[in-house]
Amino acid sequence: MGMLGAGKISLDGTKIKLNASVNQNKDADALKKEIDRILKESNEIDEAEIEMYGESRPHQIPKELVDKTKRLEKIQAAKKKLEEENLIKINVTDNDARIMKHKDGSTKPSYNGQVAVDDKEQVIVAADLVTDENNVHQVDPTIKNIWATLGYKPTILLSDVGYFSYDNLELLNREDIDAYIPDNFFEVEERGKSKRFRKSLFKFDEEKDCYYCPAGFVMPFTRIQKRPDEPYLKQYVCIHCSDCILKYACTKAEKRTISRDPREHLLEEMRGKLRTDEGKEIYQGRMSTVEPVFGQMKQNRGFREFLLYPGIHERRAR
Ligand code: SF4
Repeated sequence: MGMLGAGKISLDGTKIKLNASVNQNKDADALKKEIDRILKESNEIDEAEIEMYGESRPHQIPKELVDKTKRLEKIQAAKKKLEEENLIKINVTDNDARIMKHKDGSTKPSYNGQVAVDDKEQVIVAADLVTDENNVHQVDPTIKNIWATLGYKPTILLSDVGYFSYDNLELLNREDIDAYIPDNFFEVEERGKSKRFRKSLFKFDEEKDCYYCPAGFVMPFTRIQKRPDEPYLKQYVCIHCSDCILKYACTKAEKRTISRDPREHLLEEMRGKLRTDEGKEIYQGRMSTVEPVFGQMKQNRGFREFLLYPGIHERRAR
């Protein structure tokens, strides 16, 4: 129908609450207490039955006991998942969901809805519902999802800071997708509101492998900072700070240190691109592409929470 453009796609996520009470969010301690309580109460019911009927007690299990057994199974399943996935809390009603922080600061049992939207007519070209609260791992699956749906990759991909990672920038470079994704500190840098001298005021010299600080001193490569599961950082330390008249604006430490990730050139290139007039205009398109889609769903159609549609057994029983 000619509703798709030339592959300029915006990606974003939104947290959607599920049909379950916040009171059903439990940590390991609360789950254990409830399991113990149900087992104790079940034993008491059992003993009372034996006392009342002896060996000839009714064959049917009392309804109260059936309800407790069902609840016990749910809690035990939730506890198993909490332990397996190393979670702090889990919702007993729907243990597939995760406790997520929403924009208003509240935490609710939720899913993270992902949509990729084409810029021409705001058509959703890929959608998914994930249990990972963080958006950063959704770039690769979304590109695959778009490919499966459309048979081509985005030519341009726009997304907010939640999708920034070096892994994602490397992936998008490899896939030859022109990405526009700011990092966490980009806006702080742009507003120039940081209390101390921002890192961007320190100029990196790749050839000499050093930084130049705002006072013009050389900061040589001094040491490596090891990180588990991440590339090591190189640290560049200034040895002239104690005599510097700018120190009050630069650092509280004895010496200013700048750390550098080996992939930091990707961040610098991205910032450079986002600062150009063309980059600003392209990135601006994200707001008028994907955000209205969420506005339409959540604000206009009132879809703010999943509803529980009766399971097939319950529908058959009606
Ligand atoms: S405090 Fe140190 S790093 Fe900062 S501007 Fe002065 S000399 Fe340079």
